[in-house]
Amino acid sequence: RKESSAASDVYKRQPHDHHHNHEHTEPPSDLELRVKALESLLVEKGLVKTETLNAIIETYEHKVGPRNGAHVVAKAWTDPGFKQALIKDATEAVASLGYCGRQGEHLEVVENTNDTHNLVVCTLCSCYPWTVLGLPPAWYKSAPYRSRAVSDPRAVLKEFGTQLDEKSVIRVWDSTSEMRYLVLPQRPQGTENWSEQDLQQLVSRNSMIGVELARSPEQKGEGDK
Ligand code: FE
Repeated sequence: RKESSAASDVYKRQPHDHHHNHEHTEPPSDLELRVKALESLLVEKGLVKTETLNAIIETYEHKVGPRNGAHVVAKAWTDPGFKQALIKDATEAVASLGYCGRQGEHLEVVENTNDTHNLVVCTLCSCYPWTVLGLPPAWYKSAPYRSRAVSDPRAVLKEFGTQLDEKSVIRVWDSTSEMRYLVLPQRPQGTENWSEQDLQQLVSRNSMIGVELARSPEQKGEGDK
């Protein structure tokens, strides 16, 4: 499924029209409970430390993941050949930078332009491009985001502080376990002479999900919220 259809789709609690191998029960799911039980046991036996686990999660949530995506975006902004390859086959282009997903998982890059803005959601659960963005933020997995990104994307963007031109079209991409999307934000104005390295700092995680735009040069160094 590419562009999302009617909002009513979102509320259907029926068997999925895309192939997931997990249930979509509201939390805490059986899996979450099992993970928690396992974690407690490992900590209790002294095999792992809670702080270590938190550090690993923190790394994937805030460091490794989105930085990979920022690398991809900044390279696309500065290297037309790479950008072309990325639009054509993102899975392959991203793998050429060393970011590989699990088998059978395809990545597609959707490019923002002056008149089209792209927004990524998984209406049924939390499918997300892990290889380039790490773990999804909590709001991405929340029921309100999953439904409202489809039913009222403009309002969702406003809540993230993102004001788009009224005339611009918002395309919403519904992720599945087989197809993940990454937004290629527009390169901010006033960055014509910037290096790829510096440009990376303007690429926030949220801009690659599509709820925000890339940072302006003035906002550089703000970090992900
Ligand atoms: Fe999903």
